[in-house]
Amino acid sequence: MKKLGFGFMRLPVLDENDASKIDLEQLCRMVDKFMERGFTYFDTAYVYHKQQSEIYLRKALVERYPRESFQVATKIPLFMVKCEEDNARIFNEELEKCGVEYFDYYLLHAMNSERFEIAKKYGSFEFLKKMKAEGKARNIGFSFHGDAELLKEMLDAWPETEFVQLQLNYLDWENPSIQAKECYELCTQYGKPVIVMEPVKGGSLVAVPEEAAKLMKDYNPDVSLASWAVRYAASLDNVMMVLSGMSNMEHMEDNTSYMENFAPLTDGEREVIAKVVEIINSSKAVACTTCGYCVDGCPKQIPIPKYFALYNAHLQALNKGFSTSQTYYANMTMYMASASDCIECGKCEKACPQHLNIIEELKNVAKELER
Ligand code: SF4
Ligand code: SF4
Repeated sequence: MKKLGFGFMRLPVLDENDASKIDLEQLCRMVDKFMERGFTYFDTAYVYHKQQSEIYLRKALVERYPRESFQVATKIPLFMVKCEEDNARIFNEELEKCGVEYFDYYLLHAMNSERFEIAKKYGSFEFLKKMKAEGKARNIGFSFHGDAELLKEMLDAWPETEFVQLQLNYLDWENPSIQAKECYELCTQYGKPVIVMEPVKGGSLVAVPEEAAKLMKDYNPDVSLASWAVRYAASLDNVMMVLSGMSNMEHMEDNTSYMENFAPLTDGEREVIAKVVEIINSSKAVACTTCGYCVDGCPKQIPIPKYFALYNAHLQALNKGFSTSQTYYANMTMYMASASDCIECGKCEKACPQHLNIIEELKNVAKELER
């Protein structure tokens, strides 16, 4: 298999404000381009695009190509598992939504310590083993958002795990909270191949400070900023697949162009990335990937990632002497809760895969932008 997977979590949409309205016509063309260039791995999940992603995978892929010509990966949302029977109920619903009789890769979704307890309580991994024995899940594993200590505990508890999906990118590699390097090395030690998610860190590695972008462009003006990040992940020996959430044909053309005949990073390119990491770390205040996992549980419905994006832009703009972020913030808070509405319940921090100190950062946002 070629090392690029099509992530179905940021598909093209017809309405920017409604993630469930997927642009099927554009999606079909993207799938065709992907398959035409020899890529075959598709990654979806029950919860993506307001639970529509699996259905659109069926429409754009399963109903249009022979089943053996592609691989489908999907995931069980453990926050919806409230009893042992829910494992089978959700799995069967996913088979139906995707229009398939088996999954090539089936995962427990976004594992952390809380979900590890749910999986143990309701026998979710045991259920995956049963589906594998029945031929309905050909490879079983989990996607992971925790530290290396928890990962070790899970790999010891579930030695039948066949692969692990990790958040891994050049910025998180040395991040002491995310521990991408430690987790990758642990998987290698346990002989578990790694599937990489968020190689471009939710798009933030294409919105790098100008100085960092210039370094990459000066080194090679012919390639995109995203290509540096995707190739970084794919260059690791134990990485079997790199997922990229592509939102339009331009992303598809770009990603497939450099991954069709993939070449690992050279030493010179690695040196450029090391300098880029230094620049980014010194310029971005809040390392939010805009995944949105924090928003659903917020009792005040604070649009956390939007405020962090504004806050980061504000600080970067202030470095250049001028920021309009306070105006944008004032407009947003006319119809949304403001950062200072936070009651510090902590739900968002538990949901954040980046382990951000959201409560503290919201105070900073309020201090800077609520003037
Ligand atoms: S800490 Fe604030 S933002 Fe986070 S969940 Fe609680 S109220 Fe919402
Ligand atoms: S604060 Fe955390 S959970 Fe919320 S959008 Fe940012 S990275 Fe995702």
